[in-house]
Amino acid sequence: KNSVRILDIPFVHTTLEEMTHTLYTHAVEKEKAFVVTANPEIAWAAHHDPEKKKLLEEATYVTADGIGVVKAAKWSGQSLPERVTGFELFINLLEKANERGQSVYLLGAKAEVIEKAADTIRATYPNVQLAGFHHGYFDWDDPSIANDIAEKQPDYVFLALGFPRQETWVASHYDKFNHGVFMGIGGSFDVLAG
Ligand code: UDP
Repeated sequence: KNSVRILDIPFVHTTLEEMTHTLYTHAVEKEKAFVVTANPEIAWAAHHDPEKKKLLEEATYVTADGIGVVKAAKWSGQSLPERVTGFELFINLLEKANERGQSVYLLGAKAEVIEKAADTIRATYPNVQLAGFHHGYFDWDDPSIANDIAEKQPDYVFLALGFPRQETWVASHYDKFNHGVFMGIGGSFDVLAG
């Protein structure tokens, strides 16, 4: 996939529709993908912190999560078609999962928020297989969540722990998973919970 370098970070040259389809296809093919949706704050933070930068380099795709990234491409004589936000990818992939009966695992947010978000998904996307969910205030040394995901092998794992927690979590457990699309989506469960 073509990419555009901004602050030495490779952003995938793609539209929201195209990216949705790409990730859906990875899920169908039982492949593994790690997606970072990087807004300007994340790009800037990564530019100034090698550990954060490394997380972005480990990702299969870094998407331009914000009009500021699209504009930065233009100012540097490059181009990105449009912004591709984590929230929009999340909703699009839930729609795909609902059409095809794919499975989803949710990790992050406060206990009451994730429960509400799970209820919203059950009500709005009844054909989605909700493989499991867990709030985001767990003990980092406890491997049980990663083991649960490795066992259930969901098609999509959405993480709302904030940057860089969600990406750090994916990077540190990635080898345990056979397949699945792993994507950090920031505060999206809070939005879904209303
Ligand atoms: N969050 C979490 N575990 C934590 C810290 C945050 O699950 O240890 C959740 C928080 O409840 C919220 C989401 O991560 O649902 C985004 O948090 P925040 O707004 O702090 O992150 P940002 O959007 O700034 O990346």
